[in-house]
Amino acid sequence: VAWEARQSITSIRQFERPDLLRLFDRADDIRDRPSAYADAATPYVLATLFYEPSTRTRLSFEAAMMRLGGKVISTENARAMSSAVKGESLADTIRIVSGYADVIALRHHEEGAAALAAAVASVPVLNAGDGPGEHPSQALLDAYLIYRRRGSLDGLTLTFVGDLAYGRTVHSLALLLTHFHDVTVRVVAPESLGLPTALAAELARRGVTVMPFSRLEDACRHADVLYVTRIQTERLPADLDPDAARYTVDPGVLAALPAHAIIMHPLPRVAELPPTVDADPRAAYFEQARGGLFVRMALLLRALGLD
Ligand code: ASP
Repeated sequence: VAWEARQSITSIRQFERPDLLRLFDRADDIRDRPSAYADAATPYVLATLFYEPSTRTRLSFEAAMMRLGGKVISTENARAMSSAVKGESLADTIRIVSGYADVIALRHHEEGAAALAAAVASVPVLNAGDGPGEHPSQALLDAYLIYRRRGSLDGLTLTFVGDLAYGRTVHSLALLLTHFHDVTVRVVAPESLGLPTALAAELARRGVTVMPFSRLEDACRHADVLYVTRIQTERLPADLDPDAARYTVDPGVLAALPAHAIIMHPLPRVAELPPTVDADPRAAYFEQARGGLFVRMALLLRALGLD
């Protein structure tokens, strides 16, 4: 299944390799020639409907729409400030917003919410994070950074560390990597926060080598990318108390990581990635976030049927 123009994005599974490369090329062109796109989406309206906190995802979707000349309507705290408080169902809200906007970016606390919304919407719904499920646009911008830096995602060795159970960005990025050859994913997580077994099995079945490590330093040797994630404290079951500080990017980790590698993080970062790492030439997370603007502009163009 390829991601066609005007379609919703509920999962990164919709993207095939040609869709990815095409999107990266478009993002590059937007980055190089922003003025050529300044009026591309002038008559259109994006609705951002966010039931969970966000800084980057919501603002970059909104900035992306505005930089295409489009307009934005927004509910940044829909859980508390929309008719959800009055008991309106997500399905009803989406039906209504479909009548106001040409495309909807939805973030919701429940896994599967984007699929439910896409099923009832009359305009494309872009999954901007569905609970512990997926975060497709984040995976696309993550892959875009690696692609720009390395020129390819084939032959990649990537180390995921942190909360691989509830960290949705990891789920989407790992699935995206199945479209590339000879990819190795090393995983380092507190015991109860490992990669979901069904996902690990799917990755293996689809040709990705998954290798668990217990020491982060060991997992960093010869790696091309260190992808650090935050413990998703807001999603953990109440009885689960992982040692959140167990894995941090400390001097030992930096010494083990090759000079050519890059350090990524979907942000927000807390204890796992100290600000002292920012001065390291391998720190790439701010550039990673910046690229999200161009990737989301490319996504909006195609979602609106303009590309
Ligand atoms: N901002 C990312 C997300 O929404 C990562 C995180 O919150 O830790 O999934």
